[in-house]
Amino acid sequence: MEKNKTVLLVHPEISRTKYNFAGIIDNEPLELEYIYAVLVKEGFEPYIWDGQVEKVPYAKRLRELRPYAVYICGRTRQEGFMKEYAREAKRCGCVTMIGGLHAQRCYKRFFSDYTDYIFTSFDPTPVAEILKGAPPESISSLCRKRGGRWTVNAAVPHDINKLPRPDRTYFYRHSDRYRYLELLPAAHVRTTYSCPYRCSFCVRNCVNCGVYTQRDIADVVDEIAGINCDNIYIIDDDFLFDEKRLERFAELIRQRGIHKRYVCYGRADFVAAHPELMKQLADIGLYYVLTGIEAADDKHLEAYKKRCDNNVNEKALRVLDSVGVNMMGMFITDLDFTAADFRSIAKWVKRHDLKHAAVSILTPEMDTELIKEYKDRLITRDPSHWDYLHVVAEPSKLSVKGYYFHYHVLLIYLFLRAWRQGVYDFIDYKFFITSMIKNMFGFGG
Ligand code: SF4
Repeated sequence: MEKNKTVLLVHPEISRTKYNFAGIIDNEPLELEYIYAVLVKEGFEPYIWDGQVEKVPYAKRLRELRPYAVYICGRTRQEGFMKEYAREAKRCGCVTMIGGLHAQRCYKRFFSDYTDYIFTSFDPTPVAEILKGAPPESISSLCRKRGGRWTVNAAVPHDINKLPRPDRTYFYRHSDRYRYLELLPAAHVRTTYSCPYRCSFCVRNCVNCGVYTQRDIADVVDEIAGINCDNIYIIDDDFLFDEKRLERFAELIRQRGIHKRYVCYGRADFVAAHPELMKQLADIGLYYVLTGIEAADDKHLEAYKKRCDNNVNEKALRVLDSVGVNMMGMFITDLDFTAADFRSIAKWVKRHDLKHAAVSILTPEMDTELIKEYKDRLITRDPSHWDYLHVVAEPSKLSVKGYYFHYHVLLIYLFLRAWRQGVYDFIDYKFFITSMIKNMFGFGG
């Protein structure tokens, strides 16, 4: 009998409530597309199922395909869905594999009788190696079950320059769905792993074993040239880091006559210190810079070890405004906030006429130093609440109800402001504002 070579690669839905910003930002499943490319090369028959865009339910697809193995990835908030899908796959007799950002750090949370392997690095090749029957003890960054007990092969940083080109067949098939705000479709490109900074609230600097590593920039430009999409979302945790590399990026994009729009993350201190470079990047199509403003006061910025103050944040916004690039200013509402602190973010946005703003609730990620500080104040253990929209630990100066009230007042203010200014005209403002008003008086997620 011929060996079953079918592998189902799964990215679960983000949430099962409607209040989840689906249809506003929907991310290309880039990680699965790397694995897909490796599996095809090794003679397997992979299929992607992305819960953000699929109409056929997962269980139905599983039964249609009858795969030999199922690989499932996701973030903290998707942990419950990842486990549910792994259980279902095991019931169907599949080999079950777990990977992705959450599993990289919190792999122990997936130790279960329905999981066979957990991959703890960005490297897509071990998935194929396991399926080809390589001895698991020879593969690093892998957790595996042996005689019912889990063995952990230590994680090692992956060399990003060994990544293959992702296979974007699935992205092209669903290009009516993958977007960053009004940029539709928006293809994802990764050029680095991890982040060289150490902000206290962030775990992105812990991935890839905490090792920051860059791809050869000529190879990045070559990949971008080959993507059939006008919008490129560079998903590095901090793309605006290395001045020389960015100058080369702009030069190569110009030389090759590539005309696209770009979205990337970038710190305020870098933007503020490099107005000339930002002009060069604007000229080649930089459209949004996602910048962690985090707080309207220096006290919180210091506590977060952000290494930026408000003067720098303001200067960065002026630089981006002057070269015609949109700043998406990202704020954190701390768990020590008073009503006045929520208002201070609204005032900052108004004072500086920031057009694009996003707000997250401070969420201590699992298995971090930060969560140890909050361990006695945690009010939920449900991973779906780790979505930066929920309060997961008792606020210190407001009740949970009071906190949600002020948080949603701030969101409504920002949404109404955006509506009046005509940004995001593709959004169903009425739906979101009605949901936020309901959530002011009893958050239902
Ligand atoms: S917040 Fe940004 S700059 Fe700070 S550690 Fe995280 S990714 Fe790096």
